[in-house]
Amino acid sequence: LALIRAIRTRASRSALRTKETAGLHLGIGDDCALLRVRSSEEIAVTTDLSIAGRHFHFDWHPPEAVGHRTLARGLSDLAAMGARPVAAFLSVGLPQELMLKAKKGATWFERYLDGFFDLAKSTGTPLAGGDLAQSPLFAADIVLFGAVRRGRALLRSGARPGHLLYVTGSLGGSAAGLIRLAAWAKENRSKFGHAKESKKKGAEAFASVRIPKKLAADLAPHLTPQPRLTVGQVLSRPGLASAAIDISDGLSSDLAHICEESRVAAEIDAALLPLHNAATLEQALHGGEDYELLFTAPPNVRVPRTIAGIPITRIGRILPLRAGRPTITLLTPQGQQPLQPSGWQHFA
Ligand SMILES: [Mg+2]
Repeated sequence: LALIRAIRTRASRSALRTKETAGLHLGIGDDCALLRVRSSEEIAVTTDLSIAGRHFHFDWHPPEAVGHRTLARGLSDLAAMGARPVAAFLSVGLPQELMLKAKKGATWFERYLDGFFDLAKSTGTPLAGGDLAQSPLFAADIVLFGAVRRGRALLRSGARPGHLLYVTGSLGGSAAGLIRLAAWAKENRSKFGHAKESKKKGAEAFASVRIPKKLAADLAPHLTPQPRLTVGQVLSRPGLASAAIDISDGLSSDLAHICEESRVAAEIDAALLPLHNAATLEQALHGGEDYELLFTAPPNVRVPRTIAGIPITRIGRILPLRAGRPTITLLTPQGQQPLQPSGWQHFA
């Protein structure tokens, strides 16, 4: 009960100003939350699971990053549809040791909430409810409600042959960061280790992952990806994007989703891809969790070079689907080759 009270206080503090304008009429405290969006809008809903060992590792990821990523994954789906966030609902299965205080400072779960609420605040996403239960495994289920102008949501199915293909920001930074993170965790295993391997007691083992300052910039694309909410809302204005998706599984996989839903083929030019400065071409093509937006626009549309300060890069075009031709073709200096969708194997 004390924990729920603490979360409620933080929820109301972090979203005091944004609550009403976002469309959350009644937040935590009643049997249900009440949402009021404009009559010109429709509601976008998305859910995501974050499970320990599957979506993050206790001995790799600082708890703040786990909290940030829980919310970022859902917000990125809203961004892909052109929706603005209205309210978040967070349900957590929580092992007892994550609520134990480490010698210095906060519990793992308090630090998880720090990361969650930092992003909630910066994106104007009020936490409107959820559930909490003791569990042998940490699992967080996030449900996000967004609002989008009626009939204006960006779908995966709107790409047509001749449309051009664009991406926001840079690609591969998250995959490159994950490899750095894994290497760093291996080097430092003796310092904190996984709870099972650690000689330290539970609370210390779980709460002690802190990323050194010199690594922070390299790991940021992986640990604290920024959902492209403003870009998505701009792209959903009439006469801009024709289809969109967020890059959660990797460019090759997410482009395949657009092709499948739009019944088209696509061609991307390796030389045009905006590689993150630490990333390889392979990571840019198949590395997931960049949470950039991949979108299409008709060729006559003037797509801005930046939207809300985020660079926009043209990377290819949409082609008609033809029997015997690959769905996605990659153009390289050595010629063209079929590109198989192969998402990043998270912890392989
Ligand atoms: Mg998505």
